[in-house]
Parts: sequence; C-alpha cells; structure tokens
Amino acid sequence: MSDRIHITTAIFYCNGAPHVGSAYEALAADVFARAMRRRHGADRVSFLSGTDEHGDKIRRAALAESLAPKAYTDKMSALFRDVFAGLNTTFDYWVRTTDPGHEKFVQEMLTRTNQRGDIYFRDYEGLYCVDCERFYTEKELLPGNVCPAHNRPVELISEGNYFLRIDKYREEVREKIRSDELCIRPERYKNEALNMLAEPLADLCISRPKTRLDWGIEIPFDTRYVTYVWYDAFWAYVSAPAARLGLDEFMAGAWPHTEHFIGKDILKTHAVYWPPILLAAGLPLPRHLNVHGWLNFGGSRMSKSSGNVRDPLYYETTFGPDVLRYFVMREVVYGLDGDFSEERLIERYNADLANDLGNLTSRVLAMVQRYLGGVISSAPAQENLAAAEDKHLYQNFRGISGDFSQPDALQTTVVDLVGKLEFKTALELLWNLLDVANKYVAATAPFTLAKDPANLPRVASILANLVEALRVIADMLEPFMPVTSGKILALLNVDAATARQPFGAGIKSGHKVNPPVALFPRIEKPKSA
Ligand SMILES: [Zn+2]
Repeated sequence: MSDRIHITTAIFYCNGAPHVGSAYEALAADVFARAMRRRHGADRVSFLSGTDEHGDKIRRAALAESLAPKAYTDKMSALFRDVFAGLNTTFDYWVRTTDPGHEKFVQEMLTRTNQRGDIYFRDYEGLYCVDCERFYTEKELLPGNVCPAHNRPVELISEGNYFLRIDKYREEVREKIRSDELCIRPERYKNEALNMLAEPLADLCISRPKTRLDWGIEIPFDTRYVTYVWYDAFWAYVSAPAARLGLDEFMAGAWPHTEHFIGKDILKTHAVYWPPILLAAGLPLPRHLNVHGWLNFGGSRMSKSSGNVRDPLYYETTFGPDVLRYFVMREVVYGLDGDFSEERLIERYNADLANDLGNLTSRVLAMVQRYLGGVISSAPAQENLAAAEDKHLYQNFRGISGDFSQPDALQTTVVDLVGKLEFKTALELLWNLLDVANKYVAATAPFTLAKDPANLPRVASILANLVEALRVIADMLEPFMPVTSGKILALLNVDAATARQPFGAGIKSGHKVNPPVALFPRIEKPKSA
C-alpha cells in the first residue's frame, strides 16, 4: 500500500487580492496533487490551502476600508477561495487562521511547547519593523537602521515578550536538511537554507503585547499577549487535518510525507523557523519544501505592491479554462523565475493549443464521422505490427521501445516527472506525443486512402489508432488541463475507467465517438492592449 501524502500551498496573507503569482503556486500544487492522486489513490492524498488573517498589516488594511478585521478577512478569504475555485483547484481543506478550531489548535501547541520547556519570557529592547512585524539585529539592517525589505527606518521598541528556543534545534535541523530528511528542492534552495543555518540564530519572538496589537490569537498562559502571526499561520498546515483525524494519527500517517509548495521569499521562514517550531512541540518535520521562483511581468516581479497585478480569472474568462494553467506550467521551469506576458501566452495558445492539440482532435473526429459514420470499426494497434507507422505510434505511446512488459510505462513516467516538479518536461513529453500523432496522420494519409472504398479497413485501423492516441493524451493532460481533458474524453465518449488504460487497451471496435467541436479557436491578435 502506498503512503498517505499531504500537499499544501503557502497560507496566503490576504491583505490584498490574489494575483497571477499566487495563482501560479496554487496551480503548481494542484497539478502535483492531481498527479499524486493517480499514484497513491485519491483517498490517500490531502490537499490544503487557506488564508493567513492575523497581524498588523491585516488590521491596517481593514482600517483603510473602514471594516472590522474579521469582516475584512471574511471578504478577502472568500475572494481567494473563489479565484482558486475558478481555476479548478481541488483543495480538500480551506483553512482560515481565524477559524475557531484553528485558534484553539494554536493555543494547544503553545501550551504544549511551553510545557516542554522551549518558551521563555524576557525583557527585550530591539529594532522593530512594523511592516515585517519582526525585530531586526543591527547587522541585518541597512545603514541608518533601515529595513532591507521596506527601505524605511525601523523603530526602537522595549517590551517583555515570549521567545521560542530555535537555536537549540539549529544543528538538528541543519543535519536533517543536509541529509535530505527534510528535502528542499530544487537543490539551490537547499544550499541557501544551509547557509542560513550556518550561524547561531536569535531565538524567535513569538508574542506581541495586546497594547500594541490585539488582532491575533491570545497566548493561553498570558492573556496580555497574542501570538506572532507567523507562529499562528504555520499551524494552518496541521490544524484542520488534526481536527478531522486526530493529531497523533495525522502525524503518524500523512504528515511526514508533507509537500509544502512555497515561494522563494518565504524559504527562510520555512527552513529556519518552521522546523524548530515543530520540534519544540515534539512533532516530526515535513518531507519536502518545493520552492518556486517569481513570475516577472514586463521585467518586474508580479506582486501586490508593484501595481502590475491582474486578476487570475481574467485569463480564464478571456482565453478559456486551463489556458493560464497550461501556460505557466509549460513556460516556467519550477524553481526558477519566469517571464509572464500576454503576448507569449497568445503565441503558446495558438501554437500548442489551437494547432497541435485542438486541430488534431478536430481532424480525427471529423474523419471518423465522414469515413466511418462515427463508429470505430477496428481495434487499436497491438504489438507485432506490420506497418512501420503503426509500430512507431504504438511504441511512443507505450513510452518504451521494444519492451512491452510495462504497458503503463508512459503514464508512470508523466506522474514521476510531476513528482520531481518537472512540470515543463512532462508537458514537453505530451506535446512530443501530439507531434508523433500529427505526423502519423501525415504519413498514413487516411484522407487520401479513403477515396478508394477498398482501403476502408485500413482507414478504420488508422482512425482507431488516432482515437486511442487522443484518449491517452487527454487522460494524461488531466492534471495540467482538467477541463480540456474532460471535454476531449467526452467527445471520445469514454468512461473514467477506460480513460486510464494504457495505449491499446482502451477503445474497442464498435465504439461510437461524437462529432468535433472547436476546443481552442485561434486568436488572431491580442484581445487587449
Ligand atoms: Zn520591513
């Protein structure tokens, strides 16, 4: 039996609307989750996302709209959830850090950690950035005590606070990262994390006095304080599954196989703070930190503050379902920064979706209607084929040459590539298969053969092979393009069980398919300036 697996996006800080950068993370994690459901079984995969709703930046964003913080986050969390639903993400859990169950869980973890002895109180005077909501050491600041993230002076604040011992766990965390027990990928981010852990760490201040900020979860053993927003937000990865399954069962089952999808800007919090927070609570670490780069839009980072944001659903309504999803997964190497432009998206749409995928589907279904009255009257190719073209097609769609002992080698390869975060390579492999199928049409020329009725048996077998090829491609596209995959499989009139079969084991002689519809009408020019 295969392992349970827990997949998360970051918990989105909802002081602004979601943009294409946040959508990219949710989409990558969703492609991964859909592929892992194929490998592990749907009931053994949990997929979690949600919104991070406490802290001073939320309080101030709410004030700016004359709303109470909770009313503001009700609105913003719903906005995130609706955008991600519109992108066909398949979360099993949507966690809000203001959910009463989450708040109670965080308090339990604070109590537990305190009882284990890793929280202490001390008076503290430090340089504090209100925007970062954290203290800085002078060494970390720019000249003039300026915050490097916000380029504005920090404030000197003196107060008593609670601290979590994190330096105590530094060597242990470092060793777990070095040995890949906590595996950070791609590799460059592992090296960055090891560097962050090379020097002694200041213990983490995990409280905020209510006199300064009361929008947070109350510290259970000192009601004058709320907890630090990051300490609170991390636990969103755990609180809801723990409530459903029990903490012990979740920790013994899926948790050690957790896959966190995060942006490179929060590598430090996830590699340096989160592991000690877990260890101090006596809990195991997740399996992977899957770190992605930024999408650059016209040369600058796409972010809430840069003004170059677009509602991700704009792409869904303008170009159709799956197009944004396809584009970011095909265009960006996971882990590296990627360029995002509408011009490039339209180029890919026309070349890959309208031409390669859409045209093949339309042509094949049109020929089945015209020459065979819509009914596949032959079985698709098996091994030991006479025609070289058929053999070439068969071998490519079995994902191997000559060895037919693993009929689902191709399906396994695609899922494995996704498991290694090689989304782009997996799509290139599928588009190579589209190319093989398109070349098979040209090489066998069924439209020419069909002019002589004596050739109809051969035409029928060519079209059976092509319908079978389309079926396999449509099935394997599902993690990347769930709506399109469903449309093509509906046109091919195959049920879910048939859809998953290896090439040659799906469509049977006598199978009826539907007439074509245009999946991706060509876009002649940009729809907006
Ligand atoms: Zn700052």
